[in-house]
Amino acid sequence: MNALNNELREGIAAIERDGLRRRRRTLDAPCGPLASVDGRELTSFCSNDYLGLANDPALIEALRDGARRWGVGSGASHLVSGHIAPHEALERRLAAFSGFDRALLMTTGYMANLGIVPALVGRGDAIFADRLNHASLIDAVRLSRADSKRYPHADLSTLERMLAESDAKHKLILTDAVFSMDGDIAPLPALLELAERFNAWLVVDDAHGFGVLGPQGRGSLAHFGLPCAERLIYMATLGKAAGAAGAFVAASDSVIEWLLQRARTYIFTTGSSPAIACALLASLDLIEQGNDRRTRLRQLAKQLANGLAGTRWKLAVSPTAIQPVIVGSNHDALRIASALYEKGLWVPAIRPPTVPDGTARLRVSLSASHTEAHVAALVNALRELAQ
Ligand SMILES: *Cc1c(COP(=O)(O)O)cnc(C)c1O
Repeated sequence: MNALNNELREGIAAIERDGLRRRRRTLDAPCGPLASVDGRELTSFCSNDYLGLANDPALIEALRDGARRWGVGSGASHLVSGHIAPHEALERRLAAFSGFDRALLMTTGYMANLGIVPALVGRGDAIFADRLNHASLIDAVRLSRADSKRYPHADLSTLERMLAESDAKHKLILTDAVFSMDGDIAPLPALLELAERFNAWLVVDDAHGFGVLGPQGRGSLAHFGLPCAERLIYMATLGKAAGAAGAFVAASDSVIEWLLQRARTYIFTTGSSPAIACALLASLDLIEQGNDRRTRLRQLAKQLANGLAGTRWKLAVSPTAIQPVIVGSNHDALRIASALYEKGLWVPAIRPPTVPDGTARLRVSLSASHTEAHVAALVNALRELAQ
């Protein structure tokens, strides 16, 4: 065997020793509260399908009709010939829904972040990023070559000091709106105020708030009643609560036009399927009319919190679908996750590097498609394991 390959094998062995080896499971059923794995039925608390739309009949029908009318592939990048009527309709709808001048559809959230940040800032500029930001935002900072300053999670006074000390040509504040492994919401009104005061862009990644928070599920900005300020760039993903795939950026007309000209992950990739855009148009209808789903989600979260109160399981407080139970060590998190799995409950153990060292956790994610009985089963199992 060659030395290069040997090095990889040793690396994998080290990952295994640290309790960090990741393994996939193949599901034999669509995304939903009940997962089928190796012939076993499990109640799943893993997906980001927060509103239960991933397998919704209306989306399936819109996808099928969309494929009949518009085909499967777009055939080219959007700037060549891959921008088809459903993409355009979806962008208009997303702009109206989010309240901004204009929206740009991207193939994934990861690609959106990698496109937005380097298009806006570069060498000689500075990015101020929350330390718990999603990996895609961290990579976006690196790709931009701007000076990177990370502030402790949600620490506004440190951020203010960093902004005041900076003489960078352009400044950009970068934050998750809902932190993906903690479920807490960024202090967006204060961040916008700082952005205004220090003349910085504010880029908000609302992967977990879109569809879930705010009136009609309009997301985290709407949750706070924030205006669509010109310095605000709103990004949200369409593979989580929206139940399909993709992402979008919404902002002022000039920002969107600039991204269309300069965001490399927009320009140099094939446009997503027009049929997916059709499914997403149907999804937006359901999100907009989805107050029952959002109410159900909040009720299930309350049931979980009440059920675990007084046990040693400390649930992070979150008004979203993300309800993490912090465990600590990687091995403990794995042990508890596998004990739950044995009981037919599938909850992912999240370990570093996804979360900081020593904060491994069970990331319970709830969906409007869960029933009270599903959550009761999880509560009972966790209470048993607490003893
Ligand atoms: C999931 C996620 C992304 C990536 O979105 P995809 O569409 O899955 O690529 C980006 N940011 C955050 C905060 C996320 O949770």
